[in-house]
Amino acid sequence: MIVQRVLVQGGGIGGLVAATALARRGVEVDVVERRPVDSVLGVGLIQPVNALRVMKEIGALGAVLSAGYPSEELRLIKPDGTVLADAPLPEIPGVPTRSNTIQRRELCRVLLDAATAAGVRSYHGSSSATLREDDHGVDVTFAGDQAPVAGRYDLIVGFDGIRSTLRRHLFGDRYDPRPTGFSVWRVSVPRPPELDRVVYGFVGDLKATLVPLGSGESYIALIAPEESVQPGLTTSEITVQMRVMLGRFGGRVGELAERVSDESSAAYGPVEEVSVEEPWYRGRILVAGDATHATSPHMAQGAAMAVEDAVVLAEELEGAASVPEALDAWWKRRIPRAGLVQRYSAALMRQEQGRAAPEDLKLLELSVPQAQARLARPY
Ligand SMILES: Cc1cc2nc3c(=O)[nH]c(=O)nc-3n(C[C@H](O)[C@H](O)[C@H](O)COP(=O)(O)OP(=O)(O)OC[C@H]3O[C@@H](n4cnc5c(N)ncnc54)[C@H](O)[C@@H]3O)c2cc1C
Repeated sequence: MIVQRVLVQGGGIGGLVAATALARRGVEVDVVERRPVDSVLGVGLIQPVNALRVMKEIGALGAVLSAGYPSEELRLIKPDGTVLADAPLPEIPGVPTRSNTIQRRELCRVLLDAATAAGVRSYHGSSSATLREDDHGVDVTFAGDQAPVAGRYDLIVGFDGIRSTLRRHLFGDRYDPRPTGFSVWRVSVPRPPELDRVVYGFVGDLKATLVPLGSGESYIALIAPEESVQPGLTTSEITVQMRVMLGRFGGRVGELAERVSDESSAAYGPVEEVSVEEPWYRGRILVAGDATHATSPHMAQGAAMAVEDAVVLAEELEGAASVPEALDAWWKRRIPRAGLVQRYSAALMRQEQGRAAPEDLKLLELSVPQAQARLARPY
């Protein structure tokens, strides 16, 4: 390997996979994560088959499948809650299921276990404080109670999310998140027995996604256009609004409104995007995942793209003669897939609201199953 010592900033989904993939190739890896251990934001996550291929590559496939809820199809429903269609998902030889849905806290637990088993050192409640770079490495100091001691690294890998401080360090505010004009409400509820696959439904400008999870749980996400985000909503106010929105559906989906209680873990916020439109690195510092290409969740592929970024980075570092050569090959290899997900998700979002532009309609000539099948091809 052309790097011996790497710092990963951000111990979320992409960061832990990058750390594991590098450590399994013999690299010494430190991860700094600013949240305390076991505090994971968000409810659940759909892992499409291309994300499962990455889990297999880092040796975590069995653990995510046993903690999650595998399924082979997705379902579309009508506003009255009845079935419109069931659509099969693409498959990848050697991956035993086409999709897995999992609690975010369970996924992060599995990924942290995989990283630790590979020899990664993780420091929760910490972050980089200063970075001083020269041609051969980066000197880093840290902030936080449990932080690593200051040291020198061959490469800094930024998987620090949509509000990445490393992106700001590299590019200033040029690629700060931009609003899409949509908001998302999310809540976990006990899984209704009939919810055995991911379900998508629309009523007017409201989109509902119902996701079965392991351990008898499920989660509901609602997306609707909203000019500006409502500030400071309490959990109870979020659940009240979700009950009203769910009540717009008929049948079993409408009945789910009664399962949303003030005790349900609820979240609300704007749908935002990030697109870094120049090389995703400078010298020996790079940004990846949501820090670089955060997308609207309409293809359920954001985390899948982050974990693909992670393993492709490790592959390119393994094969290259120098760090600049590896990073150049890495981001060029990632642009087509991450870009497709972003453009396609945004086009779907606008189409679902009757606001599709001509270029959206052109892109959407590639159907959703065709787009998902394209992503099931090797990265
Ligand atoms: C409503 C919604 C639903 C979604 N559903 C899906 C889905 O079903 N399937 C899917 O594939 N994707 C989905 N996504 C997208 C997915 O959540 C993201 O793409 C994914 O989490 C990105 O991973 P990441 O590692 O880049 O960033 P994150 O998962 O956000 O991790 C970033 C980490 O960095 C840490 N951090 C931040 N700043 C610092 C710092 N300065 N120092 C140290 N640590 C720091 C954070 O605490 C966090 O743990 C969804 C997104 C939304 C909004």
